[in-house]
Order: sequence, then structure tokens, then C-alpha cells
Amino acid sequence: MIHTVIFDRDGVLSEQIPQPPEYGTGVGGAWRLEDFRIIPAAIDAVWYTHGRGLDMFVATNQPYIAKGIMTSDVMYQMNAHLFEVLGISSENVYFCPHSKENNCACRKPKPGLLLAAAKEHGFSLDEAVMIGDRPSDILAGQNAGCAMTILIGNNDQKTRDALDAVGAKPKYICSDVSCAVRLF
Ligand SMILES: [Mg+2]
Ligand SMILES: [Zn+2]
Repeated sequence: MIHTVIFDRDGVLSEQIPQPPEYGTGVGGAWRLEDFRIIPAAIDAVWYTHGRGLDMFVATNQPYIAKGIMTSDVMYQMNAHLFEVLGISSENVYFCPHSKENNCACRKPKPGLLLAAAKEHGFSLDEAVMIGDRPSDILAGQNAGCAMTILIGNNDQKTRDALDAVGAKPKYICSDVSCAVRLF
């Protein structure tokens, strides 16, 4: 029985944009408040999940904080926006402010954020689903002992190869979070 849903933030609940050039050439979360936008499918997903009486959490890596690209104050303002639009309390948003080089215990694929959420809010990870858009989200869910993981993305060979390369085994791959929350 699933009681808790843990969402990654960027690429699942909020839109991704090109990374700042000083950080990389891929896509990632916003680092300015004016660029922070909720994905419309997230509104449906949260409405549906709330209606089922499940608890919702967010677990997000925010390395721009460690890199000095974004202040934690901006992050807290984004949390306030998440609460306004999606109704997810800031108390339920767990973020890793470190970068890969910090070798912390909380940066996904490590399970630290999920373990902290479960401990502080008293829920069981074996009754929780982790939903994310990167292999590291799936691994974090697996490492934390989640009942199920779901990847948001294209179910193509490239995606499956990237998952296989790190041993990430989502139960489902689907196109958006609105679809994902209807799979359990
Ligand atoms: Mg993401
Ligand atoms: Zn961390």
C-alpha cells in the first residue's frame, strides 16, 4: 500500500532551462525566481494525489547553491511558490545544497534526503514512491528502499541505456508526472 509520494522537483514539477555556462551545457533547474515555472501536469498530479489522501514530499539536488550561482534565499522563495501553486508545504521540501565535490550524504543518488524526510515525518519508505526524471532519482529511491520508482522521460533506447549503465530500475517510464501518479 502506497502512502507517500516523493517527487524530484526540476523536470518533474518545475520546468528545466539551459544550465548557466559557468556550470555546464545541459539543462537544469532555474536559479532566478522569475525563471521558476511549474509544469502544468504537476498541478493535475498533485490535485489527484491529494484527492487520494497520500502525503507528498519533494527531494531535490540544488548544486547551484554550493556553486554560488543561486542563494538559498532564492531557493526558499521557490519553495514558497511551490506551496502557493501546488500546496506542498515547505516543510516537505528536502534539498541538497551541495555539489558533487562536497561528497555529502544527501545529494541524490544517495538516499539522505529521502531518509531524512521519512525520519522527520514518520513515514515508511517501503510505502513510498519516488518519481524523478534522472537515473540518480531512481537510484536514490532504490537506495532508500522505496516501494517503487517511476522515471519521467522518453521510453527509448537512450533512456534505457542510461538507466542500465548505473543499475537504475524504475518500475515504469512515462511522459509526465500526471501520468506517473496514476500508475500505483
Ligand atoms: Mg530532475
Ligand atoms: Zn548534500
